[in-house]
Amino acid sequence: MTSPVHTRADLDSLPNYVPGRTVPGAIKLASNEVPGGPLPSVTEAIAQAATQVNRYPDMGAWALVDRVARELDVPAEQVAVGCGSVSLCQQLVQALCEPGDEVLFAWRSFEAYPILTQIAGATPVTVPLDATHTHDLDAMLDAITPRTRLVFVCNPNNPTGTAVRRAQLTRFLDKVPPHVLVALDEAYREFVTDEEVPDGLEFLRERENVAVLRTFSKAYGLAGLRAGYAAAPAKVTEALRKVYVPFSLNALAQAAAIASLDAKDELMARCRDIVAERTRVRDALLASGYVVPETQANFVWLPLAERASEFAEHALDSKVVVRPFAGDGVRVTIGTPEENDVFLDAAASFQRRA
Ligand SMILES: *Cc1c(COP(=O)(O)O)cnc(C)c1O
Repeated sequence: MTSPVHTRADLDSLPNYVPGRTVPGAIKLASNEVPGGPLPSVTEAIAQAATQVNRYPDMGAWALVDRVARELDVPAEQVAVGCGSVSLCQQLVQALCEPGDEVLFAWRSFEAYPILTQIAGATPVTVPLDATHTHDLDAMLDAITPRTRLVFVCNPNNPTGTAVRRAQLTRFLDKVPPHVLVALDEAYREFVTDEEVPDGLEFLRERENVAVLRTFSKAYGLAGLRAGYAAAPAKVTEALRKVYVPFSLNALAQAAAIASLDAKDELMARCRDIVAERTRVRDALLASGYVVPETQANFVWLPLAERASEFAEHALDSKVVVRPFAGDGVRVTIGTPEENDVFLDAAASFQRRA
């Protein structure tokens, strides 16, 4: 029997978020997680918080907000936290857009953007990446209309790993109308090594229409707990708090995020190891004959076009799970040296076969 309940007519037209697959016994290089488990100090903080889960978490997560504000050296009123930064992306659309308003972003970019935009009743507008798989900021400027409320610039870009530089981004921000918010999604900021790739906080200090989004899921290794934050003008963080689902950032995540910031040096040392592996993996892929855009994140992008799915199947034969985007390319997360070696062998044998 089919339920007579009315659901939204447009749900079928929403793309589904495709998570990286988890295959028992296989190496997972599909979701841009870091390979290291939580530090003992973080596990300890989670265990402590677990003894009080009969109580609601701090609704405003003020201890975490204050800790993040101190870390970033911005006023606490300019920080908002959420259940992963994907939640903050959705809150931004909900807080800024009325039905029919436009949200602009590059494509291909983070696959949550079009979904969240449509769920909130706004209209996604996309601009293709340029020939180097990088944001085409000039074309994005041209795509701004009177209905544009929000522009996502994912820097470095997921899934291509490419980053826009300071001069380009400054020129772009100078031309975006001041009532349009530019959200710099810096989920991979901690892996950036090119000094010409700006820290979004530089812009926050001098502009009233820039927000910076960060997460504890990637470099800080807390993907399973769901914590992220936005740094933005106070008017924007206030709006974000209005559309926050009450208590959605849970008590364990709040405690773990604070403990992770306290252990930042140790965690950043791990990131440097991943960055070293990133260089090794990319060089090996180039040597095998692959095209690999320069990456500033903890993953590489193989623009294999119609061979993307076939490549992923081949990797799976070697027990490596990667993330294919059918017809476009494959994103491969940097893992441990041993995991990366298994992947590189699979990539090399794919080339020999082709
Ligand atoms: C992973 C990711 C996020 C956020 O992840 P959360 O786990 O929700 O914090 C945001 N933006 C991009 C581009 C990402 O890749």
